[in-house]
Amino acid sequence: LLLTCYRSSDYVSGYSVMHFVFITGGVASSLGKGLASASLASLLQLRNFKVRLRKLDPYLNVDPGTMSPYQHGEVYVTDDGAETDLDLGHYERFTNQSAKKSDSISSGKIYSNVLRKERKGDYLGATIQVIPHVTNEIKLFINSDLNNEDIVIYEIGGTVGDIESLPFLEAIRQIRNDKSISSALIHMTYVPFLSSAGELKTKPTQHSVKELLNAGIQPDIIMCRCEKQINQDALEKISLFCNVKKEDVIPALNSSSIYEVPSSYYEAGLDTSLLNHLGYHINQYPLDLDPWKKVISKINNPTSKVTIGVVGKYMNLKDSYKSLNEALIHGGIANSAYVDIHWINSEELDTKKILKELQKVDGILIPGGFGYRGIEGKINAIKYARENNIPFFGICLGMQLAVIEIARNVLKLEKANSTEFVETDDPVIGLMTEWHSKDKLEKRSINSDKGGTMRLGAYEAILKEGSKIKKIYNKGKISERHRHRYEVNTNYLDKFIKNGFEYSGMSPDNILPEVLESKDHPWFIGVQFHPELKSRPQEPHPLFVSFIKNCIKSND
Ligand code: GLN
Repeated sequence: LLLTCYRSSDYVSGYSVMHFVFITGGVASSLGKGLASASLASLLQLRNFKVRLRKLDPYLNVDPGTMSPYQHGEVYVTDDGAETDLDLGHYERFTNQSAKKSDSISSGKIYSNVLRKERKGDYLGATIQVIPHVTNEIKLFINSDLNNEDIVIYEIGGTVGDIESLPFLEAIRQIRNDKSISSALIHMTYVPFLSSAGELKTKPTQHSVKELLNAGIQPDIIMCRCEKQINQDALEKISLFCNVKKEDVIPALNSSSIYEVPSSYYEAGLDTSLLNHLGYHINQYPLDLDPWKKVISKINNPTSKVTIGVVGKYMNLKDSYKSLNEALIHGGIANSAYVDIHWINSEELDTKKILKELQKVDGILIPGGFGYRGIEGKINAIKYARENNIPFFGICLGMQLAVIEIARNVLKLEKANSTEFVETDDPVIGLMTEWHSKDKLEKRSINSDKGGTMRLGAYEAILKEGSKIKKIYNKGKISERHRHRYEVNTNYLDKFIKNGFEYSGMSPDNILPEVLESKDHPWFIGVQFHPELKSRPQEPHPLFVSFIKNCIKSND
């Protein structure tokens, strides 16, 4: 395996100078390694480095597509159609850079690659072992698909000490042992406050570093997550016991907004410390924190407040709607508004209770989702929004349910439903193969015998002249990310149009509806795609900006 990386001091013209940064976590999970990685990347970008973020996950699922949002948070979808971990969402939001399929891998995928090669006979009869076969596969990933970046950051999921992450640590050990490669390792730990003793405890950090040492790895930088200010004594102790210079022990304290994290890590000296390790002269790479300062100032100084009712399903784990949550905040940033999100669980509440909750909100949003549980409550919420002129935003399943609601209550097709939930005489939503003529299916190269497959990743849509949606985007052609199997059945189009609804966004071949809007309602828009995946704090998504703006209006 040839890794073409050089220390900056070894720079040879014609070669790309590249550094690897590995971020591991210890003591506890959920410390915010993803946010730390994303914030670090942003700081380096602001210093004009070409940076890339990638993730190695220790679980044995081949990809997170089938993992429950209850357990693992949202499934984030990239432009190129990968179903990934939600940390890739943080990466995109903090770096304004689109992640790729090749930016994340799991142990499951690594093992499945190794086993496939073994079946093919690629290993020429050798005994297949974790070292070197699995570790080589990991190193292959680490070194694959690179594009002359200056610094590539690899976040290692899980916590050191987990059995699953051992091969990752071993691969990193090998890479760090190769003197031709420049790398740095940042270890993020937790420093708890013990109220009975009245002090911060550094022992868990010491043990976690020992765990890394067991794997043959000495960290260069230790980031200490802590709910309190960490005093000098504790920092010195960590430095001494963990064999890391004092300036490389970085306090990582809680922030009131995640968008304050880059600035607070800058102030704690994280990027300076890293660049020193990588051999850069920090003075040559000045940084301007202005883009983050602007975002924070908008968040901290709102001029109005709106309450948005999100009627959904996975309400116990807010991470299952991570991107949506952030996109609403971004819509608030653009309008200098504080967005209070009122999560309403359509599975637990009956329609009466849901409607009671909706009296308190300025706008209603129905997010994406799968399965029939809780859908009738959502349909009633849509009816309430439509009839009472309350801004309504339907995303993916939310749009499909809006189509069902209108079909039932306006077009008077009582049985209207989606074939995802029941067999019905009026399948206003269904698999393409259930309602499209054969020639159209052939045009789209869909085999009508096989049933629908998931539409994943970025697809274009053409927006109609004179529509609200076109005005919102201020362009006629958009590209948005999809993750769904069912589609709006166009056999009912005429009826919808006659009743004042418009399919104002269509796929470029004019076969699949992408946007539904009401002509008579102030803001009633459903989209078949997931705009929340492309919203960023520094570039809020136009749909969320417009939705929040109209919710503020309806609040006045
Ligand atoms: N369950 C619906 C479908 O598969 C919607 C999916 C979604 O909202 N992401 O089409």
